[in-house]
Amino acid sequence: MIDPEFWSDEKIGTLPVACRIMFIGMWNFADDEGIIRFTSAFLKAMIFSYDNISMKKIKSYMEILENNEFVISYTGGIARQKYAYIINFRRYQRIDKPQPSKLPPPPIKNHRIFTMYIKRDREICHICNELIEYSPHINRVGSKTPSLDHVIPKCKGGSDYPSNIKLAHLSCNKSKSGRLINSENDSENDSCLREKNIREENIKEENQEPSAVSNCSQPVDKALESLKKQVHDKGFNISVLINRFKKDQRARKVTYAVPDEVYIAVCETVLKTDLSRIKSNYPYFMRILKAKSEEFFANNAQSEHSKVKNANWAISISDIMKGAK
Ligand SMILES: [Zn+2]
Repeated sequence: MIDPEFWSDEKIGTLPVACRIMFIGMWNFADDEGIIRFTSAFLKAMIFSYDNISMKKIKSYMEILENNEFVISYTGGIARQKYAYIINFRRYQRIDKPQPSKLPPPPIKNHRIFTMYIKRDREICHICNELIEYSPHINRVGSKTPSLDHVIPKCKGGSDYPSNIKLAHLSCNKSKSGRLINSENDSENDSCLREKNIREENIKEENQEPSAVSNCSQPVDKALESLKKQVHDKGFNISVLINRFKKDQRARKVTYAVPDEVYIAVCETVLKTDLSRIKSNYPYFMRILKAKSEEFFANNAQSEHSKVKNANWAISISDIMKGAK
């Protein structure tokens, strides 16, 4: 439920009406961390499916929301997709039993994200409740320097998601983690903690893969269906082509599934293309599908596991391409 305070926020009141609708819609489709896919095609599909509103207009609203610091965009996940974090999501939205996010968190090492958290938390250290010393132009490090604290420490399973990140003085942050180390048994020293952090980061990376590849989250399903319809309305029967591709896959006994994210990217490309110049739909479709699949898996070369998957893909797709010519 959105807090009624939302409506009396002056800054929100200055937004164009359709932009405000889009922003509210984003609250609906964001996950419990306030994270949402942030492309004009996705937002159009989810929020304006019955409206004749141009992608250009939606892009301009996306810019307004970002320039006014309502949202911050970032690229994340193995597919390097665009996401946005709704900055005051947890302030205006009461969530009883938050579900863990399936989307990648904003990268906390990114300077823009770091600055966003400083502003979100109103330059106040959550440990001692005093102001931090912050100037974007001064690079001096002192005890009052801002730092990002993991409320649940990473070594105890805490995540980089916005609900677990709070602003703290560097000194407060350090003394807090010191206390935690002391409260543990003797063997858990600094280097052990660091090691655990690294290990956990690796595990997390591995864990992210299946969710990004299988992508069974409902909003993605819905977005894909809506995008397919838009593409179909443009006179390009993409469902038929996808089915033909799947049939080809079966004929070649290829068992992997193309992630929905790839089909979404294909739809987004078709929507941008002048179709009058396309002579034959299937080779054209296969060309984009190949490019988008490769893009998807090329960004996936972090671990051995994904390299193998990447290689499999390259072979299978080129194999299929031979059949498509
Ligand atoms: Zn402090």
